[in-house]
Amino acid sequence: MTKIILPQQTIGIIGGGQLGQMMALSAKEMGFVVGILDPTTNCPASQVADWHIKAAYDDSKAIEKLVAKSDVVTYEFENVDAEVLVKCTELGKLPQGLELLKISQNRKHEKSFLSQLNLPTAPYEIINNQDELKNGIDSLGYPSVLKTCSGGYDGKGQVVIKHEKDIKSATSLLHFGECVLEKWLTFEKEISVIVSGSSHSQFEVFPIAENRHQNNVLHTSLIPADILEDCESQAKKMAKKIAKNLQIKGTITVEMFVTKNGGLIINEMAPRPHNSGHYSIEACNVSQFDSHIRGICGWPLPKVILHQSSIMMNLLGEEANRAKEWINQKPEWNFHYYGKKEVKDGRKMGHITILSNSLERTLEEINQTNIWK
Ligand code: ADP
Ligand code: MG
Repeated sequence: MTKIILPQQTIGIIGGGQLGQMMALSAKEMGFVVGILDPTTNCPASQVADWHIKAAYDDSKAIEKLVAKSDVVTYEFENVDAEVLVKCTELGKLPQGLELLKISQNRKHEKSFLSQLNLPTAPYEIINNQDELKNGIDSLGYPSVLKTCSGGYDGKGQVVIKHEKDIKSATSLLHFGECVLEKWLTFEKEISVIVSGSSHSQFEVFPIAENRHQNNVLHTSLIPADILEDCESQAKKMAKKIAKNLQIKGTITVEMFVTKNGGLIINEMAPRPHNSGHYSIEACNVSQFDSHIRGICGWPLPKVILHQSSIMMNLLGEEANRAKEWINQKPEWNFHYYGKKEVKDGRKMGHITILSNSLERTLEEINQTNIWK
């Protein structure tokens, strides 16, 4: 059994973006002291944390300091160098463990892990050079997508190869290291399944979100996903299988494709709360951040209950400014702003969650605002 971390004890979070901020907010509600490590002054999480170590994520001295000052350590993203957390793990301060991090930060490891569990992924080949890329295309066909094994997010670090002429531009990705080539799949929907785990092998699954992307970035999540019951229970079973196998503590997310006939393919996993789970803050009895904090602190988890269907809309770049004009007219909408000063194109500035009895009508209402042109 993991030790229990109690209020007044300290949680250290690596990464100070919006996920770190929302983790910190949950932790503060529960009475923990929160420290974060992030290179940026006034980053979102630093605005709600008790202390902030301003340093790069791979600064091992700074990480050591964070670990020394914390009773338990977690991270808001998977691109943390696992090596710098070895000592933290030995001290028993990383309940999520290194295996989860190592698997989910590398697409090759992730895919072989999923295959070992007999979970379906897109057909793929590991690619290290141009010859392997050509052979890979020969076996998988067009279109395929080349992805760097590590470091990618929001569609960064990927190139879709539709024709022979795209091979050349894809080759440049190989400079960033090993890649996977995946067959480009046609699917009906994308969904995500969030699971939280605690000690006593307890695993609780959140209602499934249906995710719509624009330019590879999440745009809208609809909850619950409009999928058949059988598909839903299969998806939850798969996510739970992963969680059980890794004995996860805290929250993980499994992204999946739903095919035309209701089949499921696992796209990727994240060892953390996810953009598509933000709805849980208002729509559920426990949020993905609450259950993450509970899980890593060795607290038991409540069964997740969805109070109401909901829609989560991301606010990227200028959308965040346009949305401000509606605050006065939409008392029922839950506006979230992450406290980022500089608006940049495509930057995640905030999100809105709307609880609704008719997702169709709410989508219509959203359309009429012109926040998302
Ligand atoms: P990221 O780490 O950037 O989220 P993903 O692997 O999830 O990377 O890819 C981003 C998006 O690209 C997915 O959500 C999906 O819409 C699309 N995509 C990725 N891989 C495939 C594939 N093999 N077939 C079809 N679409 C894909
Ligand atoms: Mg993804």
